[in-house]
Amino acid sequence: MQIDLFVKEVSDFLDKNQILLEEDEVISYSIDRTKDFEPKGSVVLFPKTTEEVQKIVLLANQYHIPIVPSGGRTGYSGGAVASNNEVILSLSKMNQILDFDSSLPAITCEAGVITKQLQEYVIEKGFYFPFDFASSYSSQIGGNIATHAGGIRVIRYGLLRNWVLGLEVVTGKGDILTFSGKLIKNNTGYDLKQLFIGSEGTLGIITKATLLLTKKPEDSIVFFIALENFNHVIECLKIVRKSIQPILCFEVFDSSCMNLVCNKHNLNNPFNINRNNVWYVLIEAEIQNEKEEIPYSEFIELIYPISIDILYSTKDSVKKGFFRYREDISEAVAMSGRFHKNDVAVPMDVMESFIKDVRKIVIEKYKEYQLFLFGHLGDGNIHVNLLTSYDKGKEEFKKEMAQFDFDLYTLIKKYKGSISAEHGIGLLKKSYLSFSRSKEEIEYMKQIKNIFDPNHILNPGKIFDL
Ligand SMILES: Cc1cc2nc3c(=O)[nH]c(=O)nc-3n(C[C@H](O)[C@H](O)[C@H](O)COP(=O)(O)OP(=O)(O)OC[C@H]3O[C@@H](n4cnc5c(N)ncnc54)[C@H](O)[C@@H]3O)c2cc1C
Repeated sequence: MQIDLFVKEVSDFLDKNQILLEEDEVISYSIDRTKDFEPKGSVVLFPKTTEEVQKIVLLANQYHIPIVPSGGRTGYSGGAVASNNEVILSLSKMNQILDFDSSLPAITCEAGVITKQLQEYVIEKGFYFPFDFASSYSSQIGGNIATHAGGIRVIRYGLLRNWVLGLEVVTGKGDILTFSGKLIKNNTGYDLKQLFIGSEGTLGIITKATLLLTKKPEDSIVFFIALENFNHVIECLKIVRKSIQPILCFEVFDSSCMNLVCNKHNLNNPFNINRNNVWYVLIEAEIQNEKEEIPYSEFIELIYPISIDILYSTKDSVKKGFFRYREDISEAVAMSGRFHKNDVAVPMDVMESFIKDVRKIVIEKYKEYQLFLFGHLGDGNIHVNLLTSYDKGKEEFKKEMAQFDFDLYTLIKKYKGSISAEHGIGLLKKSYLSFSRSKEEIEYMKQIKNIFDPNHILNPGKIFDL
C-alpha cells in the first residue's frame, strides 16, 4: 500500500514519537469542533523543523498522499477534519518562541505555539497581542493565521492580516517561502504572504510567523445596556462611534440568549427584565482620562433616552460578570439540544433589515426551532444559531438545517454579505461558496491553488472541489 511505503520513508527522518499510528488516537486528531464529518485519518506526523515539514510534503507529492495541516483543532468549519485516510500533519511540536523585538514591537514564533501562551509571553514583556478567543487555550498561531481568525477586539485593532508581518510556509509543491521577515516596508511586487492568511491549509503549511504587537490597553470601563429593539442597537452603535474612543468591543445578544444563559447557568437577568424582544449590548472602552469620576459621561447622557437601563463598571470582577452573559451563550446553546451554528456578516447599513428577514424565515419555515442571535456586531458580524430538542431525528435535523443554510445564504447574497465572517469555509460551507464569491473569483482561487499545490496534496476538498 502507498501509505505503508510513505510511512516507511518518513520514519527514515522522523523519530518513533513523531509518528502516531494508533487508531483511536489518530481519530482524535481527525476532527475539529464540527460534528458533521466522519473522522478517518491514517497517520499523524509531528515534524519538529521546517525541513522535516518540507520532506513530508515532497514525499506526499511523490506518493500522491493528501495531507491535512492540523493546529489546535478548534475550528468550526471542518478545515482540520481528516475523513478520507489523509495524513495529518500536526504542528504541535513546533512550538518555540524564536525572537522578541521590542523596537518594532514584534514576536517571531513557530506555528504550533498555543495562542494563549503567546499572549501571556508578550504581556510579561509589557506588550499585547490583541487576538483572543474562547478557544485561545487550545488554538495555535498557525491555525489562527490559516483561518484568519477574528474575535471581539477587531473593532479596536483591525483584522489579523494587518498584524502578520512575516511568514514562513512550505507550499503544497514543497518549496520553503519566507515572506518579509521583520520588514515593515516592502513594496517589491505582489504581497504573496496575504494569500496564505485565511487559506485554511490549502496552499501551504505555515511553519513560522512574525506578529506585530502593541502596548497593553489602558484600564477599561464596560457598559452593559438593555435596549427595546434592534433599531436602538444601531442607534447605540452610532452614538458610540461619536462619543467613545477607543472602543475595545461592541458585542450584542438578544433576549433568547439572555434567557437561556440565565436558565442554564442559574443566573439572574441583571436588569430584572422578563419580557422578550429586548437586545443587550456590551461595550468596553479604554479610559483615556483617569481623572473623570465617570468616564464617558457624555455617552451615558446620549444613550440614556433610548435605553431601558444601563449598568457600568470599571471593576474587573464586575466586568467579568457582565461578560459571562455573552461568553456563555455558545455553550448554553450547545448543551440544550440539537443546535446549528452560522457565523455571517452583512454591511452595517442593511443589518436591521437582515435581522428582520432572518426572524421572519425562522417563524414561517422553522417553527420547531428557537433562534439565537448574538455576535461582534461592531464588525457587522452576527452569529445565527438554531436550537431544537433531541426529539427531532438526526437525519431530519440535518435535512432541515441544509435547507435553512440555503435560505440564509440566499438572504446573505441579496444583502451582499459573507456566508462566513470568521470561521472559514472548510468542508462545511464549500457548496455555498458561490453565495459570497463570483464564478470568476472562484476560478482565480482554483488557479492560485494549482500554482502552489499542483498535485492537490494540501487539504484537498476544503474551500472548494477541483
Ligand atoms: C469556544 C470557541 C470560540 C471560538 N471563538 C472564535 C472567535 O471569536 N473568532 C474566530 O475567528 N474563531 C473562533 N473560534 C474558531 C477557532 O478557534 C479559530 O478558527 C482558530 O483560529 C482555529 O485555530 P486552530 O489552531 O484550532 O486551527 P485548526 O482547527 O486546527 O485548523 C483550522 C484550519 O487551519 C488549517 N491549519 C491549521 N494550522 C495550520 C498551519 N500551521 N498551516 C496551514 N494551515 C493550518 C487547518 O488545516 C484548517 O483548515 C472559536 C472556537 C471555539 C471552540
